[in-house]
Amino acid sequence: MMPAPLVDAFGRVHTNLRVSVTDRCNIRCFYCMPAENIRFKPRDELLTFEEIERFVRVVAAMGVDKIRLTGGEPLVRHDLPVLVRKLAEVPGIREVALTTNALLLAEHAAALKEAGLSRLNISLDSLEPETFRRIARRDGLDKVLAGIFAAQKVGFASIKLNAVALRGITEPEVVPLCQFARRHGLEMRFIEFMPLDADGNWDNEQVLTGGRLREIIEAEIGPLVPLVSEDPAQPATDYAFAEGEGRIGFINPVTQPFCHRCNRLRLTAEGQVRNCLFSTEEWDARQLLRGGASDEQLALLVRESVGAKKAGHGINSDKFLKPGRAMYQIGG
Ligand code: SAM
Ligand code: SF4
Repeated sequence: MMPAPLVDAFGRVHTNLRVSVTDRCNIRCFYCMPAENIRFKPRDELLTFEEIERFVRVVAAMGVDKIRLTGGEPLVRHDLPVLVRKLAEVPGIREVALTTNALLLAEHAAALKEAGLSRLNISLDSLEPETFRRIARRDGLDKVLAGIFAAQKVGFASIKLNAVALRGITEPEVVPLCQFARRHGLEMRFIEFMPLDADGNWDNEQVLTGGRLREIIEAEIGPLVPLVSEDPAQPATDYAFAEGEGRIGFINPVTQPFCHRCNRLRLTAEGQVRNCLFSTEEWDARQLLRGGASDEQLALLVRESVGAKKAGHGINSDKFLKPGRAMYQIGG
């Protein structure tokens, strides 16, 4: 008999798992990582590909059908295509996707495609080398662009470009990013800056809101028309340009939280289950995976985590508690 789906106390059915494969990264975006003195998890604390695969088999039997690999930077983990292939073959998994900064994508795009990767989201905040360096605290724009074009060349379609929307930095980037995306058949998405930076400098004033972004795009490029989403659980609100090609998505977790339609669960690189990006609690799957637990015990742990999920993240509430971990340690 098929185990029951992962439904939380608010009726949200969880079908989407984000798996972080590492907390390491080859750049240092200020909205995510500290600049230096980072204490990465020792390698033996990270789940092996076999442990990740077993976890995915267990949740797939409870209705999870989409996996997104993230990090840290997932492509710094050796042999990532091997994991992609393993997960794509798990019964019930319809889609294995990847979020990457694309610095290493040119060298791995063909192997990823061949392994069965379905979708790619690429993070790109700026097309100006100086601004790229200011945000990432490293160079690398040329490599990112090479990665995007290599991915298109090996046949990845519907690639999404994600930019974090930062007030005072992103405004001059908006039009060039949208035009670049339109020219190259990519979908541009803007994500409001969330309080998950390692330096703890986030405040509301630094968020360039989705509303403001839309005003800039409509004033400088042209009117947008809302699109009906193919996936009602997706965090982005999508628009098409009224004239010409191109789609734009806005992910507005700060000004328009979408928690009521969240269907996502997370597994950190060292095997902790989280029911929310902003969760202050974790459930230790690694201990079970390495301690001889049965699949039923693992499934129970995941159910406990889903059962404890809160109605929303509460970023805008006085009682909001920032999680003890930053984005690179959770998996965005
Ligand atoms: N390294 C990969 C990358 O950058 O695409 C994957 C991991 S990264 C943590 C996943 C996504 O989270 C990226 O698109 C990144 O821009 C976004 N992100 C990181 N910190 C953020 C923050 N504080 N607020 C909003 N988005 C953030
Ligand atoms: Fe690395 Fe991605 Fe975090 Fe940037 S957002 S520091 S690329 S993990």
